[in-house]
Amino acid sequence: MESVQQTISRVSQELGCSPTSLSVAEHLDRHDELRLLRQEFLVPKISDLPLSDLSLVDGSEDCVYFAGNSLGLQPKNTRKYIDEELEKWAKIGVHGHLKGSRPWAWAEDTLEELMAKIVGAKPEEVALMNGLTVNLHLLMLSFYKPTPKRYKILLEERAFPSDHYAVESQIGLRGLDVTDSMLVVAPRQGEDTIRTEDLAALIEREGDSIALVMLSGVQYYTGQLFDMEAITRAGHAKGCLVGFDCAHAVGNAELKLHDWDVDFACWCSYKYVNSGAGGLAGAYIHEKHAHSVKPTLTGWWGHDLKTRFLMNNEMDLQPGVNGFRLSNQPILLVCPLQASLEIFNRTSMKALRRKSVLLTGYLEHLIKHYYSKDPSEPSRPWVHIITPSDPEQRGCQLSLCFSCPIRAVFQELEKRGVACDMREPDVLRVAPVPLYNSFTDVHRFMSALGSALNARH
Ligand SMILES: *Cc1c(COP(=O)(O)O)cnc(C)c1O
Repeated sequence: MESVQQTISRVSQELGCSPTSLSVAEHLDRHDELRLLRQEFLVPKISDLPLSDLSLVDGSEDCVYFAGNSLGLQPKNTRKYIDEELEKWAKIGVHGHLKGSRPWAWAEDTLEELMAKIVGAKPEEVALMNGLTVNLHLLMLSFYKPTPKRYKILLEERAFPSDHYAVESQIGLRGLDVTDSMLVVAPRQGEDTIRTEDLAALIEREGDSIALVMLSGVQYYTGQLFDMEAITRAGHAKGCLVGFDCAHAVGNAELKLHDWDVDFACWCSYKYVNSGAGGLAGAYIHEKHAHSVKPTLTGWWGHDLKTRFLMNNEMDLQPGVNGFRLSNQPILLVCPLQASLEIFNRTSMKALRRKSVLLTGYLEHLIKHYYSKDPSEPSRPWVHIITPSDPEQRGCQLSLCFSCPIRAVFQELEKRGVACDMREPDVLRVAPVPLYNSFTDVHRFMSALGSALNARH
């Protein structure tokens, strides 16, 4: 297959223009079979963004939205679906539980199949419920069963704070010592990301004392995509259970949770899955655990639907992850998730990934072209990309580490209608999302970055 470099050179030769020309981006957009999916989303206009400066840019243009790793854009059908449910509530009240296209009593059921496709699981291995951290806790309550010999949880250094706290508190809940029970894996000295071989070696060395391997699928800070299949295999070889927080992986990387034999996983749906802030989260438990791993905490929604409403207080627990349900579903959160999953269903993670590799590769190409370190010009700012350059080891996000303080650059980007994410002192996280971002967006981002770097101070 043609590499990203080769594609860019071929296109620029065909067009007879420079590889950095806007024409290349426009050509790639014209040949993007997924380009129409952008029309299914509401893209904010620059003039509506709170920090844009209309003396610098045309406010009527769409912003450059590279923040889908934080909060995905709103699918256009969201409002329609929510309106339908509000209307139903107004008109028929409690009867809405059983009537309409989304009977509230089992509204989420129709979505599990769509969600399962995105994470590579069987529908009965997936539940849509709660928030991400809640699900992580519920899963660890059942999957973390420390014994005197096997009691550690392996996680990555600088894991997302919520995951770190969840692991800490789960260890504390068992009366164990956190420093002794939390095994943290870090990149090698002078490196930015964790090598799979180092992870495997650590698991091999310490595996007998590890109860749980609990990593992210895509690391939120570095953008590294872990080799979940290899890690799961290494963990299982040493008798560990293996779970992943797929918050940044779902809708971004191709996942095969079932085939990889991952024991459990959880994710939120408001990042690449566009369900809106605080949207309905997901949980997965491999079917092999359906009858052996039981929920520690139960509620009426874990009861088999057929007999749930007999209200006889005799639990008829659903097998697997469905038994972990506690409460009835928030229908207003089901609506935006449905709107988004239907868009995913018009394509495939395979096709999205194909575009994503080219889109992010194009961004990487331009950043390297303009901002590689040049020893002959020491005062010129340069950018070091922390995220692995191997497409197999990343999703769509690039984490850019600047040679200059980032706050002023970030503010100048915001004035120019770019939405992305800053981590002080020097990292900018940018995520061109294949579902709605274009190659032209990448090109516009680069122009804005050039002008922001000139304007800072
Ligand atoms: C976004 C994110 C969270 C957020 O947790 P919520 O419970 O949804 O607030 C947690 N963990 C990771 C890895 C995340 O990326």
